[in-house]
Amino acid sequence: ARASVLEGPAGPGATADGHPVPLLANIGGPKDVEAALAHGAEGVGLYRTEFLFLDRSDPPSDAEQEEAYRSVLEAFPGGRVVVRTLDAGADKPLAFLPAPGEEPNPALGERGLRMMRRHPDVLSAQLGALARAAAGLDADLQVMAPMVTDADEAAFFAGACREAGIASPGVMIEVPAAALRARDLAPEVRFFSIGTNDLAQYACAADRQVGGLAHLQDPWRPAVLDLVAPAAAAGIPCGVCGEAAGDPALACVLVGLGVTSLSMSAPSLPLVRAALARHTLDQCRRAAVAARAARTPGQAREAARGHLPHLA
Ligand code: PEP
Ligand code: MG
Repeated sequence: ARASVLEGPAGPGATADGHPVPLLANIGGPKDVEAALAHGAEGVGLYRTEFLFLDRSDPPSDAEQEEAYRSVLEAFPGGRVVVRTLDAGADKPLAFLPAPGEEPNPALGERGLRMMRRHPDVLSAQLGALARAAAGLDADLQVMAPMVTDADEAAFFAGACREAGIASPGVMIEVPAAALRARDLAPEVRFFSIGTNDLAQYACAADRQVGGLAHLQDPWRPAVLDLVAPAAAAGIPCGVCGEAAGDPALACVLVGLGVTSLSMSAPSLPLVRAALARHTLDQCRRAAVAARAARTPGQAREAARGHLPHLA
């Protein structure tokens, strides 16, 4: 039975009672499109554009950017493609955009949208290339900014998107302040995408690059789930694109919290699709309530599984 679920036709993601949950892929560029399609991705939920900018001393040309973005958009006709603007700094250092001066704590320094606000030319070049790449295509291009902290930053990004002719701006929710006050950010943008990797890092004050602190990065931590909840309840579509989305049981919990789409590395898609297909939205909601009521990550996992009897 397991093999047939994993190898059968990959329909759109949905719970057992038909609540749709689009299942999307995280990609680093056009080279990852094939695997995304092979695993039945309905679109792209996180296109990490940093890879285009890595290992070079100058930014890619406008034409080079446009070509990379178009080749991804063309692979998903009519499907959603969520592109993240450059997330430079901290764990993603870029040679041509050095941090200003010494940063004793790069994870708390200029990264993501903070860096783009200091280099508006880089942001507008990227947004312009995206708008041109989507022009004339049957594409659902959505563009989001990383490391957004408050409504002012969300409004700044939405304004930059509007100027470039991009109609669907969104922001990542990966800073606890943004999660807690998601209702303030929601009126500024069309969607949220929760980055649970950074959200866990900042919730637990545990650098994601310090291997010895990996236990503090566990997205099953009830405090992290407590931060997901207000973002998912803020009244606009809210996906998850951190590693948490690729854990079948946690994916059910996230849906139970109100998350509307899940994006993950392509090989995780079949098991997540199967887990959702075997549980109702009500079971997911009960699993979410139980996980948040737990006191530790381990207890949260166990409590959720008690409401998800059909995991593979
Ligand atoms: C995250 O922070 O969860 C995320 C998806 O982005 P990245 O891992 O690229 O920082
Ligand atoms: Mg992140």
